[in-house]
Amino acid sequence: MKRRPSFPAQLPLASAPSRPRAAVPPPQIPQGLGMDSDAVRRRMVQKLAQQGVSDAAVLAAMGTIERHRFVDSALANQAYEDTSLPIGLGQTISKPGVVARMAELLRNGRPGKMGRVLEIGTGCGYQAALLSLLATEVYSMERLRGLHDKARENLRPFRLANLHLLLGDGMQGYAKGAPYDAIISAAGGSELPQAWLEQLATGGRLVAPVVVAGSAQALVVVDKTVQGLRQTLLEAVHFVPLKSGVA
Ligand code: SAH
Repeated sequence: MKRRPSFPAQLPLASAPSRPRAAVPPPQIPQGLGMDSDAVRRRMVQKLAQQGVSDAAVLAAMGTIERHRFVDSALANQAYEDTSLPIGLGQTISKPGVVARMAELLRNGRPGKMGRVLEIGTGCGYQAALLSLLATEVYSMERLRGLHDKARENLRPFRLANLHLLLGDGMQGYAKGAPYDAIISAAGGSELPQAWLEQLATGGRLVAPVVVAGSAQALVVVDKTVQGLRQTLLEAVHFVPLKSGVA
């Protein structure tokens, strides 16, 4: 498992040879949906609010992070629809409604930012970016090197200094960052790994999909209190499987 190196500094523009102004082509900034994405994202946030997401911090984060930058350019025009999308290697980015719902559950109406958060399943890095706006420190783990690298690429322009990307088996958690105020998983197994429950702080909350019967999954919330663990089973969800090991 490697710690994320700091973001590379921008290349000095001054190193380009000087040329007459007119000959200099305009800078090639990949814009995706360009300026329009602000308006499209605002509409997405309005819809999330209509669907019942009421946490202002979550809605603000969803309005800030540009989801279209995390999906293939061929899918960018679907980035603000409430749909999950493929991100490569058989994995998917969850639909915005589910991401917002889980973030809201994780925050649990607490004022201010969450402290340290552990995310299992970095994927394309979208949810990690959102979490970095909602927490003081985020550790995000991914077991597939291809996605870990892709997330780093996707996240670089956002320059989120409090987000740490880790390549490793999230089923082991990340003991060095523990205890966590919040743990969130984007992949569901038949049970919650013991490491997550151990690494959760007292007063902390875990939100994850778990397999409840056959291949059916439900969202589970675990609160760690001084009296012990309190588990609440919520609505049915559909996440990719939680797998062990690094690949
Ligand atoms: N939050 C992600 C969702 C990615 S899908 C996003 O915004 O894109 C879930 C991810 O969990 C997949 O990339 C999958 O490879 C990863 N995953 C599954 N089991 C894992 C494990 N044990 N440790 C770390 N990541 C895991």
